Amino acid sequence: MRLSRYFLPILREVPKEAEIVSHRLMLRAGMIRQESAGIYAWLPLGKKVLDKICAVIREEQNRSGAIEIMMPTIQSADLWRESGRYDDYGKEMLRIKDRHERDMLYGPTNEEMLTEIVRAYVKSYKDLPLNLYHIQWKFRDEVRPRFGVMRSREFLMKDAYSIDLDFDNAVIAYNRMFVAYLRTFARLGLTAIPMVADTGPIGGNHSHEFIILASTGESEVFCHADYLDMPPPAADIDFRDPAALQGAVDQWTSLYAATEEKHDVAAFEAVEEGKRLSARGIEVGHIFYFGTKYSEPMGARVTGPDGVERPVHMGSYGIGPSRLVAAIIEASHDENGIIWPDAIAPFQVGILNLKVGDAATDAACEQLYATLTARGVDVLYDDTEERPGSKFATADLIGVPWQIIVGPKGLAAGTVELKRRADGARENLSLEAALARVL
Ligand code: ATP
Ligand code: MG
Ligand code: MG
Ligand code: MG
Repeated sequence: MRLSRYFLPILREVPKEAEIVSHRLMLRAGMIRQESAGIYAWLPLGKKVLDKICAVIREEQNRSGAIEIMMPTIQSADLWRESGRYDDYGKEMLRIKDRHERDMLYGPTNEEMLTEIVRAYVKSYKDLPLNLYHIQWKFRDEVRPRFGVMRSREFLMKDAYSIDLDFDNAVIAYNRMFVAYLRTFARLGLTAIPMVADTGPIGGNHSHEFIILASTGESEVFCHADYLDMPPPAADIDFRDPAALQGAVDQWTSLYAATEEKHDVAAFEAVEEGKRLSARGIEVGHIFYFGTKYSEPMGARVTGPDGVERPVHMGSYGIGPSRLVAAIIEASHDENGIIWPDAIAPFQVGILNLKVGDAATDAACEQLYATLTARGVDVLYDDTEERPGSKFATADLIGVPWQIIVGPKGLAAGTVELKRRADGARENLSLEAALARVL
């Protein structure tokens, strides 16, 4: 991408309305634009990051055996009357009437609709296990939308739903998602700690919120410090091996970790003193086993090996990709801007032409740009007329991980400068050596 042809509405001023750093940086970097309270348009840079996050989520969901579908945003109220949640859900639900005066709603979540699909097609235990997911916009009329896309009213969610014959199989499905989540967050450069969460009337201990620690987080959390260095499950973990999955889950639940609602002071105080972490956290994911809560009232039943029909056992598993964009920035930035983990950086490499119009500089930049583009690298070529200082500031603000700085002086000596955004390290290298480093 040539910056001169791109749409990157950078703000030099710090927006006054933004209270937290991720919101400020997303506005300054031209990633999002508020259209109504808690409702945002995603501009090119924001859309790129959002897509890259979704790609990582998708890969890990697919690896675990979940299957992607797409359900609509608009749902019929009748479905929700069947589960009993139409009246219970309250004001967070956006209720809509169509031209025939039928009650519709903008989906805040999809348990009912997924259960409806399952009951239509899944009749036998032989069709199980099954896990279906989609990545779709949700609407929740939050009382206090704030912090930009961190708590918005319209937001993107990856929600998966597992369907199993009985409790034991549902736990295996739960563990698959538990492991997939750990891998997903690690790949996004985050340390997300699974914390015991409320199961409501379902009971048991199969509900975990995945929380990243950040001073601006809305939840108060308590955990063992060793979680911060625990390695995520390996990429080759066998998702068909229940014992391997249980092993990973056991390790990641072996130490104390709970949000305020489930906090057990005595258990926390049993943790050795230097290892007790009490902090603020951001909920980036939530997994939940809810048994037959929807299958029972909605009649999603299958025949077991014994010929007896029974309601399926289900769980749901949510991740907020749009909240993650903000959460990653909260976890990874400095005074100059965003520091993207390589896996989701909107552009992996930036080329900064310090003297547009200088024949040698232009030629070197064009050569770099052509080579990187041909190799499939997402590259942003700053070919604008801006001063060097402004180009450096833009590249750092939007968080380009590798920056190749090309100017006439360096070129005369046969070098370009390679800068690493994360630590600011700079090196003078030949064009070829710089290319070799970023490829
Ligand atoms: P919160 O406690 O922050 O209100 P929740 O518990 O209501 O979130 P879930 O129903 O568990 O959210 O939804 C799954 C995921 O969707 C959350 O873990 C979060 O990442 C994301 N999410 C939920 N609400 C929002 C929102 N208003 N804006 C952005 N992302 C959200
Ligand atoms: Mg909520
Ligand atoms: Mg919550
Ligand atoms: Mg939740």
